[in-house]
Amino acid sequence: MVDGMAVQGAYPIEPWALRETHLDLTMLARSESLFALANGYVGWRGNLEEGEPHGLPGSYLNGVYEMRPLPSAEIAYGHPETGQTIINVTNGKLLRLFVDDAPFDVRFGELRSHERVLDFRAGVLNRNVEWQSPAGKRVRVSSTRLVSFTQRSVAAICYEVEALGVPARLALQSELVANERLPRPASADPRVAVMLEDPLVEEYQNADGTVVVLTHSTRLSGLNLAAAMDHLIDGPPGVLVESRVFPDGGLVTAATTLEPGQKLRVIKFVAYGSSGERSITAVRDQAWAALSAARQAGWDGLLGEQRAYLDDFWDRADVEIDGDTELQQAVRFALFHVLQAGARAGVNAIPAKGLTGPGYDGHAFWDTEIFVLPLLTLTVPDATANALRWRHFTLPLARERAAQHSLKGALFPWRTINGLESSGYWPAGTAAFHISADIAHAVIRYVGATGDTAFERGPGMDLLTHTARLWLSLGHHDADGRFRIDGVTGPDEYSAIVDNNIYTNLMARENLIAAADAAGRYPERARELGIDAEESGRWRDAAQEMTIPYDETSGVHPQDQEFTGHEVWDFAATPPEKYPLLLHFPYFDLYRKQVVKQADLVLAMYICGDMFTPEQKATNFEYYEPLTVRDSSLSACAQAVMAAEVGHLELAYDYLGEAALTDLRDLAHDTRNGLHIASLAGAWIAVVGGFGGLRHRDGSVGFAPRLPQALARLAFSVLIRGRRVRVEVTRTEATYSLADGEPLEILHHEERLRLSVGKPEVRPVRPAPVRRQPRQPQGREPIRRDRGRPDECPGA
Ligand code: BGC
Repeated sequence: MVDGMAVQGAYPIEPWALRETHLDLTMLARSESLFALANGYVGWRGNLEEGEPHGLPGSYLNGVYEMRPLPSAEIAYGHPETGQTIINVTNGKLLRLFVDDAPFDVRFGELRSHERVLDFRAGVLNRNVEWQSPAGKRVRVSSTRLVSFTQRSVAAICYEVEALGVPARLALQSELVANERLPRPASADPRVAVMLEDPLVEEYQNADGTVVVLTHSTRLSGLNLAAAMDHLIDGPPGVLVESRVFPDGGLVTAATTLEPGQKLRVIKFVAYGSSGERSITAVRDQAWAALSAARQAGWDGLLGEQRAYLDDFWDRADVEIDGDTELQQAVRFALFHVLQAGARAGVNAIPAKGLTGPGYDGHAFWDTEIFVLPLLTLTVPDATANALRWRHFTLPLARERAAQHSLKGALFPWRTINGLESSGYWPAGTAAFHISADIAHAVIRYVGATGDTAFERGPGMDLLTHTARLWLSLGHHDADGRFRIDGVTGPDEYSAIVDNNIYTNLMARENLIAAADAAGRYPERARELGIDAEESGRWRDAAQEMTIPYDETSGVHPQDQEFTGHEVWDFAATPPEKYPLLLHFPYFDLYRKQVVKQADLVLAMYICGDMFTPEQKATNFEYYEPLTVRDSSLSACAQAVMAAEVGHLELAYDYLGEAALTDLRDLAHDTRNGLHIASLAGAWIAVVGGFGGLRHRDGSVGFAPRLPQALARLAFSVLIRGRRVRVEVTRTEATYSLADGEPLEILHHEERLRLSVGKPEVRPVRPAPVRRQPRQPQGREPIRRDRGRPDECPGA
């Protein structure tokens, strides 16, 4: 228990940190994910510095992967034969301590105290332990670790050992280790990464004084990588320092004897480099250069830069929640980790787990464009631009894949690291065509929010054009002239190869209109891309004639054309241990029943909200709630937003809790493999889109805020066209203010407000319509936030 802090669940509740006050070895892998540090390029799991014990050692570089076979028992045209998997790169976190010959290992001797703190404002992981060796020698070990937001190839650790009570002879080994042995995965869950053994081939190694460098290449994917480290060592006079390298490793040792109260302090700077194009020597020199820059900044410099970067981030992105301290902490934890996943990814994918673990093989999915980028676009827009530039970089591969499938335009991969399809299951891979429209959607939102016309004219227009072409060749006009898109899989993976999935059709429609509009705005670029009036006319026709099925009998929008005619899944006969359903029931049965893995039509009503009337939204929401099992952690946030919009504020609050606490409470029982970055971003979506009611309207934004009972106040900021709009909502009124820049127009419901700096606009909060509470499938109700802390909840 920490003074002055409430404790609920495993971690004390405090606003700006995640604190672990005792070490539970059975939870090690989970806490390694929660305490992971990353900047989008370098990712270090929260492994203990001494390396052992560990749950899952993890050091990652975005874009460094190995190929692996994707065997298929049947010959199938277009099936990718190889996939990619994220690999562990050289581990630079290791610092092994020996106290009078005894290795510092928390499993032996006595761990007299333990604390780790992930500090969201300082951007560091602090550790403080007091340990007594089996021979009775006591030491205090403190470390502070960071992965730099300002120097994206750099990580650093300040490690301090103090002798307590009696003198102690110490040897501290700071290591770089490649091809670290990984534990075999405990489960056969296909979502766990295939762990490849020894993926790195040694190239060059050197040790010189306090500097060690190791370079490797990957066996099959042909990537080069380098890791280098340097040290500042401070202790009593006469500390012996030596270094050496050996196959797959190198170390710098500092040896000394400490009198009680004396300290040995080692600052370890680590720098990485990687490339698919540049030579091993170029990559090695890149790591060396980064190392020199880090040394030049110094430890205090790195800490200062980190703090300044985060001060700026929180200034733009913080969400304040009054009335629920646990949620306040969880939402900041979520924002911090989403930033870590995307901030400095550069022109690389943002994986579903960020760089916090090997789950999903390190692949990026639509999670990025639909869940992560909405947050980044309105808080760190440059990160969105880079993520979309990466999609643009992979456009030639997406065009090849379309051609391979006899389609026009670009067919983006469902899951990938390098732009090539890595899904071994086509009904939930290739057939999830909506990914291409999701990318187009992210382009539209990015350009709308930033006004970045250079991006729009360039990569933006390429992406919009080639995705629009896909839809025209994938769909067709039926005998009545309606445009249909048949044989696709929408967001709900418990239905596959369906006709006219409304989400897909609406997103394609938006894509087609945006491409035609862009062609009109940039005629020269349109000519370059070979778009003529006829083609953009066909885009507009298809959009105009897009089929949006409606079931007159049940009075709802079917998720896809046939959906509402299917038998309803027998929820009453499905006990809690049979979830997630995909691990216990065959797909053939899931596919032919009304059972929804994750928000699909409900997501469409949020993202393409103008295509539905308020009454349709309420009726549809009520229809899909009892069918939606939330076997994906991507679901709760979308349900939160729509619940809030149609008037179920308390239910929205429950879903927000689920999205925000997915990892902190390990609701899906797989946080050990990495964090659910889309769900964490979803917590922000649930707050800002749900209780803030933020919607994008014609390049501007509108709000329709209202709060659930438990919350007294909510405040957040978004960046629109480079200007910071701050929204503060209480139970009775909403205050909008502009922090900087030229006046800006926004909407409060349908009312236009012109915001100017120093002139906040205050409007009353409109009451929510009163509606009957919808039900959820038996046993799949969200945890009620006011009912304390149950241990189980859906979500995978
Ligand atoms: C979901 C997908 C998601 C993937 C990665 C799956 O369980 O159904 O929508 O993209 O997880 O998060």
